[in-house]
Amino acid sequence: MHRPLRLTLDRAALQHNWRWLQANSGTACGAAIKADGYGIGARPTMDALHEAGCRDFFVSNWAEADELGTVPDGASLAVLHGVGAEDVAAALGSPARPVLNSVEQVERWKAIAPGRPCDVMVDTGMNRLGLSAEDVADGLLDGLKIETLMSHLACADEPDHAMNARQRDAFAALAGRTAARRLSLANSAGIALGEEYRFDLTRPGLALYGGVPTAGLEGMVRPVATPEAQVLQRRRVRAGEAVGYNATWTAPADAEVAIVNLGYADGYWRGFSDRGEAFADEARLPVIGRVSMDLTAIDVSAAPEVAEGDRVRFADDLPAAARASGMSQYELLTGLGARFERVWG
Ligand SMILES: *Cc1c(COP(=O)(O)O)cnc(C)c1O
Repeated sequence: MHRPLRLTLDRAALQHNWRWLQANSGTACGAAIKADGYGIGARPTMDALHEAGCRDFFVSNWAEADELGTVPDGASLAVLHGVGAEDVAAALGSPARPVLNSVEQVERWKAIAPGRPCDVMVDTGMNRLGLSAEDVADGLLDGLKIETLMSHLACADEPDHAMNARQRDAFAALAGRTAARRLSLANSAGIALGEEYRFDLTRPGLALYGGVPTAGLEGMVRPVATPEAQVLQRRRVRAGEAVGYNATWTAPADAEVAIVNLGYADGYWRGFSDRGEAFADEARLPVIGRVSMDLTAIDVSAAPEVAEGDRVRFADDLPAAARASGMSQYELLTGLGARFERVWG
């Protein structure tokens, strides 16, 4: 069946981004491929990054690990949400290892898989997932075979935030206190905070996919995903007429308008109403009126040749799209919907 919406994915750009992050990590560099590779496709992402040299992959839960299938040679997969009571069978049958986050999870893993490798998350101030430093000091981890001891930065995208150094110091104080083979703290933005944040392994996600979470990464990562929609109808709108739900846009002069088959059900959020932009070659085609569930109107006055059936590109510049829509770059990527045919080039 013809899939009219297309998400063009640039494998070379994805690999370039990982290589840049690897070079600037100065140590091993992994990849967060949770949420189906931030919406672009976890399996093709894992394969492309494995080819580039990546060996450490992270997903959120065991269903994601299962959907990935086999783990490539020499690589490992870790499950960030750890092992809950309902995950026991899945975890025991999986090549992935859990990231243990709580006393309950540590005790569960010791009971069901003694001696089997795991990772451990320590909370250093974010108060999201992880054991406390006291749990670690109390010998809770004795007997575990820990591959990676990790923590997660709350404010890495704000380089001047005092919490960064506090978290780094709290994490560095755990070095040598466990049997962990490696330490890992930095996400994408954390890599740009400097060498003392990089430890033995970094875990970027967003920047792999073309996101720019912090000024230190500006100009360094390339866009990976470009949505393309198809024109369903081209029409002339007379001066003074309105376009779309609630008639929020009125033509100031006679205008040429195209209706394309993309909407908020595809992750093209309502925040792009009157603010987003598409392109036909180099011509800029502003979004006009409200984004609907399955339809968006664009002003094609600058593109006289655009006709029914033609494809237009939507902006792939994530920081700009985030500013325009009021959504985060993470939301824009992970919201990319199931109606897109994902086409790797
Ligand atoms: C999602 C995630 C990452 C990747 O973060 P980005 O900001 O996308 O680079 C790293 N570590 C953990 C624990 C995560 O949950």
